[in-house]
Amino acid sequence: MTIKERLAIPPQEMRTQEPKARLWNMDEIALGYTEEQAIYEAERCLNCKNAPCVNGCPVGVQIPQFIAEIQQRNFKSAIDIIKETNLLPAVCGRVCPQEKQCQLKCTAGLSLKSINKAVAIGRLERFVADWERDKGVAPPPVVKPHTGRRVAVIGSGPAGLTTAADLARAGHEVMIFEALHKPGGVMVYGIPEFRLPKAIVAAEIHDLERIGVRFELNFLAGRTETIDNFLKEFDAVFIGTGAGLPKFLGIPGENLAGVFSANEYLTRANLMKAWETDAGTPFFHARVVAVVGGGNVALDTARMALRLGAEEVHLIYRRTRDEMPARAEEVEHATEEGVIFDFLRNPTEILGGENARVTAMTLQRFELGAPDASGRRSPVPLAGSEYRFACDMVIPALGNAPNPLLEHFTPALKADKHGHIIVDNRQKTSLDTVYAGGDIVLGAATVILAMGEGRRAAVAINELLGDENGGKGGVSLNTV
Ligand code: FAD
Ligand code: SF4
Repeated sequence: MTIKERLAIPPQEMRTQEPKARLWNMDEIALGYTEEQAIYEAERCLNCKNAPCVNGCPVGVQIPQFIAEIQQRNFKSAIDIIKETNLLPAVCGRVCPQEKQCQLKCTAGLSLKSINKAVAIGRLERFVADWERDKGVAPPPVVKPHTGRRVAVIGSGPAGLTTAADLARAGHEVMIFEALHKPGGVMVYGIPEFRLPKAIVAAEIHDLERIGVRFELNFLAGRTETIDNFLKEFDAVFIGTGAGLPKFLGIPGENLAGVFSANEYLTRANLMKAWETDAGTPFFHARVVAVVGGGNVALDTARMALRLGAEEVHLIYRRTRDEMPARAEEVEHATEEGVIFDFLRNPTEILGGENARVTAMTLQRFELGAPDASGRRSPVPLAGSEYRFACDMVIPALGNAPNPLLEHFTPALKADKHGHIIVDNRQKTSLDTVYAGGDIVLGAATVILAMGEGRRAAVAINELLGDENGGKGGVSLNTV
């Protein structure tokens, strides 16, 4: 096939649940490609020399090679290529911001002058990962002989799970300590089922259990056990405790009944299944919900509120759609589902009525000014533009900061002024044999970046513990 012929193939749309039907269930929205669609989409790939898409992937997945295997219907070879560098392809194929990474650099998209016409690399990755799981053809992970060394991993999000997998495969005994009653971190308690089915995360965790990783749940490291005590029992410690401390607006009225952090709202819904009538999770029902923010957390919260019965859900954001950090596909899905976007405004006060319950907010209008440090045009408040907006629930979804608990109980563990643990380029902290990675180091980031940090830490820990391959049991610095 010539380049011209490949570029003429229309991009394959992914099947999705009907927008109206979606609001009545928690099932996944995007239904994935059929085999024929996957092959058709794969044929759009130009198999570029020095493929620019690979440079756009934080973990360097060999993209043209796996896509070429899909073209040939060699789905098993395709997933094997991806797994050389990415252990959670079914997760990443669903939640990675591809339009800002690999697909942003895709030659097909650039030639056709539209990011929407880039090869759908993420969807293809998801397709082969799902194919492998559905067919049950994933081989059991290979583990080296036991080394007798022990490592504690604190936190079971993507950073902790990746570190644990790589260390266990190198033959070390690994125990994961998790504060919540289910492992998986934000993949379980934050990102909703309708975007990332929990069965997929559970399957990955099951793989870890198969290679001997043990989980100690309901265990709050720092308080239940200090780092010093861990170091008496373990040869090394990895901290992957994420950024779970919600940020608030800092305006009057935030203590009224009906104001929830996005974290609490999503955790009640995802982890404690608040939508099920027999779940027993206390839940606050509201008619008009205002979610404040413009990232993935804000969108997930707004869409969850619609599913939990709100009649109207407004997303209040200081800038415009173009500056929203959320994934483009999620913005599209939220729009289809009926989330109302109120751009260029922000609350200055939350107002309450009887029983100190939320009744309204004061919103101020904004315009866009010059670009700020993030490169996005900055929001500039318009004096005298305030107005009253009636609502009965307000959910600030402004992102999260690191939980300061571990540093609090471990003064020698150095963190910056925002509470992010300081590490060197091998993820080592200020304490010997203690490593850290993921959101606790980067601030609220992404699944793939957390996995990348976890993998880098595992390489360093394997070297520390004298693994003769320097952690190369399927592990290299550039892979997840
Ligand atoms: P986490 O996933 O936060 O896991 C940390 C774990 O440590 C948690 O399970 C926590 O309970 C546990 N823990 C904390 N303190 C302790 C302690 N003291 N003792 C024991 N355990 C402890 N990223 C994307 O790439 N795409 C998306 O679409 C996306 N959507 C998101 C939607 C939401 C609602 C949120 C909140 C985040 C989203 N992200 C997304 C970001 C992504 O999920 C995170 O960047 C990623 O999960 C960070 O991984 P982590 O392993 O560092 O931490
Ligand atoms: Fe294929 Fe796009 Fe990568 Fe080129 S840049 S190899 S067209 S996916």
